[in-house]
Amino acid sequence: MTDPADRKPATRIIHSGKGRGLTLGGVNPVVQRASTVLLPKAEDLYKPGNWTYGIHGTATHTALEEALCALEKASHVQLVASGLLACTLPILAIAESGGHVLVYDNVYGPTRRFCDRMLKRWNCEVEYVPTNVGGAISEYFRPNTKLVFLESPGSLTFEILDTPAIADAARNAGIPTIMDNTWGAGLYHRPLDLGVDISVQALSKYAGGASDILLGSIATRDNALAGKISAACTELGQNVSPDDAYLALRGLRTMETRLRQHHQAGLAVAEWLAKRPEVNAVLHPALPGAPGYDLWTRDFSGAAGLFGFVLNPASEEQVFAFLNALEVFGLGFSWGGFESLAIHCDPQLSRTAAPPNYGGPLMRLSIGLEEVDDLIADLQRGFAAL
Ligand SMILES: *Cc1c(COP(=O)(O)O)cnc(C)c1O
Repeated sequence: MTDPADRKPATRIIHSGKGRGLTLGGVNPVVQRASTVLLPKAEDLYKPGNWTYGIHGTATHTALEEALCALEKASHVQLVASGLLACTLPILAIAESGGHVLVYDNVYGPTRRFCDRMLKRWNCEVEYVPTNVGGAISEYFRPNTKLVFLESPGSLTFEILDTPAIADAARNAGIPTIMDNTWGAGLYHRPLDLGVDISVQALSKYAGGASDILLGSIATRDNALAGKISAACTELGQNVSPDDAYLALRGLRTMETRLRQHHQAGLAVAEWLAKRPEVNAVLHPALPGAPGYDLWTRDFSGAAGLFGFVLNPASEEQVFAFLNALEVFGLGFSWGGFESLAIHCDPQLSRTAAPPNYGGPLMRLSIGLEEVDDLIADLQRGFAAL
């Protein structure tokens, strides 16, 4: 028999988390709603390894965790209530008062807000690192450096980090690394294979795929780190609804097929935008010649449908006119669903280590599953209004 771990990712995510104890013979797991879990004997009440109480998960959670372990080839997955909590909880579990924490400058804005407010209040020093720092991250290490937090590509600005070099330097210094891997979805980018210790993602995006759940996952192959993360969840009382876990798993089963379409359609729209006279630059790591293309080619096996572009200098009024003329693209935050979305980014852009200067308004598109021709016609409407 072949080892299921040797199968391709699409197969692994379909044929995992399917034990009979999780599904009762159905294709999908049961949705087990429980606070109390009854145990057969008094001797079992305090025995480790049993399902004991809903806050530690039920059959539905176990099925999703097993599928995510199979996807990222992780030994432990912790589910948490949102993608943001998947970013902040491992920091909370590892950082210490009086410690120093390194965070790449392109991180998701709410992750930065957590670092700037809560971590600092707890007397952790947070230092932001320019995105072009690779192996030279070692020059930032101090005796009290507790962790390095990476995101690649950044979800507004799309720089690709030299992840293997960063992970290598941190490992040599005994400093754990955490990567926000939401764009790569655990499928197109494999941080654990590149030496990163903890891979987190917002399942709210491509795993869910339908813009109707909030959920996060924290994956690792390191037993000691897994223990710290799980302890932090227990100590905080962190909980995930079994209904949301069920929906995330249902989405995950078809994610590989959807992502292939998001990749192709996103690249087609990016190529079209790159030829428009109104566009100054396209920030799509899989577009030849775009920033990060070489590292993307080396370290990724595909691209999400999320990318940015820079308009030639334009007033805020013109940016609003462009966005308001769109009929197919929705105006809204988040991404990874079947519907295309557009936003302008400048109001939420926050950089301190090396602020980029784009020379025009920064826009972001999440390309959904509509026909590319209809999306391009919509953008044409936007440019006419601009
Ligand atoms: C959306 C997002 C998150 C947070 O996910 P939520 O489930 O919305 O909290 C974290 N990181 C990145 C890169 C994201 O795009």
